[in-house]
Amino acid sequence: MIRVHVNDPLDQEAMNLLKSKSQLDVTSEHLERDNLITLIPQIEILIVRSATKVTREIIERGTKLKIIGRAGVGLDNIDVNAAKEKGVKVLNTPGASAISVAELTFGLMLSAARHIARGTKDLKEGLWTKKELEGYELFGKTLGIIGLGMIGKEVAKRALAFGMNVIAYDPLVPGFEKVRMVDLVELYRSSDVITLHVPLTEQTKHMINAKTIEKMKDRVIIVNASRGGVIDEEALYNALISGKVYAAAFDVFEVEPPQDDLRKKLLKLPNVVATPHIGASTYEAQERVGKELVERIFNELKI
Ligand code: NAD
Repeated sequence: MIRVHVNDPLDQEAMNLLKSKSQLDVTSEHLERDNLITLIPQIEILIVRSATKVTREIIERGTKLKIIGRAGVGLDNIDVNAAKEKGVKVLNTPGASAISVAELTFGLMLSAARHIARGTKDLKEGLWTKKELEGYELFGKTLGIIGLGMIGKEVAKRALAFGMNVIAYDPLVPGFEKVRMVDLVELYRSSDVITLHVPLTEQTKHMINAKTIEKMKDRVIIVNASRGGVIDEEALYNALISGKVYAAAFDVFEVEPPQDDLRKKLLKLPNVVATPHIGASTYEAQERVGKELVERIFNELKI
């Protein structure tokens, strides 16, 4: 029997699929670091989402470990170098949650431009703040997409349908539909709304910082549903206070949950809209992600 441990919640259909194979002995329970380290020598296949940090220590102690399955896209919670060195295969599900993340990105963008979250909060508190909540139309505005991969492309399609002028920067993508590819200088100079869809790498860490914000249009809106670390949140906080940035909308933070002093003061600003990393949290995406991952594992095991 091949021992499989599912350490973060996986879609029920995907769990049923895993359990349907007589060759697999499947357990599922969220174990924190110490308990996972104790169990890992027995595990051949470890399945996680983003909550479990699969560190070098865990990988090195996984003497039987063959596959790490990540139900989702981002691999920043997995030490992929350590896995490679130990010959452990890392499988993920690129694209399975792209539509869900793109739809949430649009929700964030609309909420930032039209004060939907603030209007809701005010109404719940008994306030009628109609006069304070004049916003912007997205129609006719320029959307700058940084990172035109699976999610960036889905955002682009929706933005085009909204009548936006869409430009993008991505060193690996030559073009897509009616999107005009530009360099970063032009993207910062021309965009009314900037949305980030890049992985977190050495090149993208804090790519939005005081210097790059300075190059942007006054009253720009910044949306981030990619990875927290791509924005220097202190610099963005200052730009939101000064009015250089009109509003910001986040699904992700450099520190999650965002409970430290910087993130707390950022979240208190009236021109910040935020959700707790729920880009891929839809029934459809989780079913797709779970089933795709399990199919990939079966293919790898040839079962
Ligand atoms: P993808 O790999 O399909 O696309 C990423 C694109 O970014 C690629 O085309 C790549 O060429 C480009 N890129 C890399 N470095 C760049 C740089 N320095 N400048 C500009 N472009 C650059 O990935 P994806 O599936 O579209 O995911 C995008 C991001 O969204 C990832 O960070 C992923 O972790 C994140 N994500 C977030 C959620 C969420 O819940 N909010 C869910 C899924 C994915």
